[in-house]
Amino acid sequence: MEAITKAKKFVYDFTEGSKDQATLLGGKGANLAEMTRLGIQIPEGFTITTEASIQFYQEGKQLWDALKEQIENALIDLERKTGKSFDDPKKPLLVSVRSGAAISMPGMMDTVLNLGLTTESVKGLAVQTGNPAFAYDSYRRFIQMFADVVKGVPRVFFERELEQVKAVHQLEFDYQLTAPQLMDLVTTYQKIYQRETGEAFPQVPREQLYQAVEAVFRSWNNERAILYRELHHIPDDLGTAVNVQRMVFGNLGNDSGTGVAFTRNPSTGDKELLGEFLINAQGEDVVAGIRTPRPIKDLERLDSSSYHQFLEIARTLENHYEDMQDIEFTIESGKLYLLQTRSGKRTAAAAIKIAVDLVHEGKITKEVAIKRIDTKQLDQLLHPTFDPTAIQQAAQLGKGLGASPGAASGKVYFDAERVASAKHEGIKAILVRKETSAEDLAGMVSSEGILTARGGLTSHAAVVARGIGKCCVVGCSAATIDEEAKTLSFGNQVIYEGDIISIDGASGDVYRGRISKTKAQLTGDYDAFMTWVNDLKTLKVKANADTPKDVIQALKLGAEGVGLCRTEHMFFQKDRIKSMRKMILSHSVSERQVYLNQLLEMQRQDFYEMFVALNGKSMTIRLLDPPLHEFLPRDPEEIQTIATEMGQSLTDFEHYMDSLAEVNPMLGHRGVRLGITYPEVSRMQARAIIEGAILAGKEMGKKVEPQIMVPLVGIVSELSYIKKEIEAEIADVFLERGEEIIYKIGTMIEVPRAAITADTIAKEADFFSFGTNDLTQMGFGFSRDDAGKFLQEYEDKNLLSPNPFHTIDVEGIGKLVEMAVQLGRSVKPNIELGVCGEHGGDPESINFFHKLGLEYVSCSPFRVPIARLAAAKAVLAKV
Ligand code: PEP
Ligand code: MG
Repeated sequence: MEAITKAKKFVYDFTEGSKDQATLLGGKGANLAEMTRLGIQIPEGFTITTEASIQFYQEGKQLWDALKEQIENALIDLERKTGKSFDDPKKPLLVSVRSGAAISMPGMMDTVLNLGLTTESVKGLAVQTGNPAFAYDSYRRFIQMFADVVKGVPRVFFERELEQVKAVHQLEFDYQLTAPQLMDLVTTYQKIYQRETGEAFPQVPREQLYQAVEAVFRSWNNERAILYRELHHIPDDLGTAVNVQRMVFGNLGNDSGTGVAFTRNPSTGDKELLGEFLINAQGEDVVAGIRTPRPIKDLERLDSSSYHQFLEIARTLENHYEDMQDIEFTIESGKLYLLQTRSGKRTAAAAIKIAVDLVHEGKITKEVAIKRIDTKQLDQLLHPTFDPTAIQQAAQLGKGLGASPGAASGKVYFDAERVASAKHEGIKAILVRKETSAEDLAGMVSSEGILTARGGLTSHAAVVARGIGKCCVVGCSAATIDEEAKTLSFGNQVIYEGDIISIDGASGDVYRGRISKTKAQLTGDYDAFMTWVNDLKTLKVKANADTPKDVIQALKLGAEGVGLCRTEHMFFQKDRIKSMRKMILSHSVSERQVYLNQLLEMQRQDFYEMFVALNGKSMTIRLLDPPLHEFLPRDPEEIQTIATEMGQSLTDFEHYMDSLAEVNPMLGHRGVRLGITYPEVSRMQARAIIEGAILAGKEMGKKVEPQIMVPLVGIVSELSYIKKEIEAEIADVFLERGEEIIYKIGTMIEVPRAAITADTIAKEADFFSFGTNDLTQMGFGFSRDDAGKFLQEYEDKNLLSPNPFHTIDVEGIGKLVEMAVQLGRSVKPNIELGVCGEHGGDPESINFFHKLGLEYVSCSPFRVPIARLAAAKAVLAKV
């Protein structure tokens, strides 16, 4: 018996889907279907699924018969609904063909508009609309887009012709072209098409459609889409859907137009409709930034009925989606159509304000608010702004629209590639363009900030910059940019490539030269939001802080203690390093003791101040860790001075310095090994910690319980040895002072052997703190200092991703951590466990640490807010 298999459904009419089907229909398709369900006026059409695009690659990158049949059926349906036909040149059906992935990738993939036009049907369209200029303008746009998207013919070939015709006839705008001029352009465009592709421009609409669908499927794998996915961690195997939709025209005359709007302000989050539109313009004109659009409020005067209808729809959509929407619309001869709705991209400040407002409005829960805020976005709130006094003296060049907040200074470059290579050379660059397009993405990512002469707040540059958190100024119309001559002029002031400018992404101001910056402020809704975050999370977030100043900063950012104080960082200041150097270069214990006493004074004072600043919050202080030669002087004059001050001959002194050098310092004389060789150093540090704690306790009227941490332990005997030394010193302090406090001695787990023998080590340790930097280094055998050179290749060749120094390698290093957690707890069920490696500030790693049930993560102060949010999100991810 023959098996009857039901053909898989690859094509859905807009009346068939819903917003919950974004994986299958793509975000755009799912939302078009949802709007259809809501009874909102959108042009009819259908969606070809993401599954079809995946199959397309399996079919050798071509459409197969079964899919064509489904498209054909959908097309017949569309012709019936619209009363127009691909085969009727008098009343032609024209469609748009747009990509739409499950996760929005704005501008990354391809679109073809006005599809269906042919040399015959353009005449029909001219008659039907009574507007030949419009008809031929549509045809010329179609030829250019089709040539570009389907055949890869550079747009510039067409644009050059267009500019020339405008120049000859002294026209400023495209819409001033007359019908005969446009007809001539169409002929020229067809010739260019023939010349570049070796074939005539296709005259069968179905053929045009199939080719366009294939091109959109292929565009899933164009370079910029791949880069975008990489940047946003979007899987490569999702595929894109294709939406085929009846064209509506915003360029039919002065009662037509097109626009975009956000239901709330995407920069501030304020509850106000913010949008822009252009009269007599089509589709991409607003986002492309070629003409500067008008604010949406002006529409009320021009077309009050469409304006009020739009307000109502915007409200409905926001309420329905329970989130701020980014909406595209077109008015065709006075009739309003919605073309798209999606969750609007927003700045971090706006995201938080909107989430908090929506909770207060009773529309979403606190948990949903937390889920909606992206950890990466919080970084934006930590961006600096220009110093207000420095600004007063700065030379302002001009002003544009502040599109994405932040303050940036850098050298001016006019092309994205140059900006990307500047970044490699360590040069801070500002990307300056007339307007940006998707090809500029890599340069935008590498830049400090972006400045464009054209475009509005929803232009490509603005939207992308906001998404990646880059400072950006757009629509700076006072600027004249000559990309060929590489100059940026404001009147008679000329900035050349390589000159430095500063831009303010909030105010839109542009200045000459570099301007000093001040740190960001976190206030208002941020505080309310972070209170909810704190209420939800179970993992504590502490900071890695080494000085009293760092501690204060960390506390402001919400740190719940100090998880790692790297004591060596306390000696970097000029006035301190000398004592440190002399201590290292001493020949005897007694000589060393002189300098240790000097260091004791400094450390005691620092610890005291830090404990006071912490006001009862915990602090884990790590004993000296790095190889000592890192502190030695390099400058010959300095070497001479220290030798003289220590009463040594230069030759002897230099020999001694040489003897400290190591071939493999990361695996050399460092960490606990220093304490074993020079126990007096560890003793001095223990004394400074305990004395600082006693003093601070007295000052605050509450006991301080310091945590002393031993680094780089691999064998329990190392820990036992150093512990005895420390305990003996502390006993002396207690005796001298006639006072005792509680303290803990623990260890870092950062040598693989320590993780494997964690049960034995736990017997000697009050706590473990995972040093995942060294654990990754030693677990992989990748030098922390050298791996950067080859790890990028590992990523490019798909051997290892992401970089394991950035995100914990769950499979390997994570397993070591997990093993140590279990072994440690098997001996001491309540042993305190935390992480202080860089992974403690990485959201993905934090999720893993949360799952392991650790008590805290510790990270650099500026990552504390991100870590707190990640810890709260980890709770929600678990449910
Ligand atoms: C670690 O190794 O993870 C750690 C925190 O210590 P450091 O980075 O100072 O070696
Ligand atoms: Mg370490």
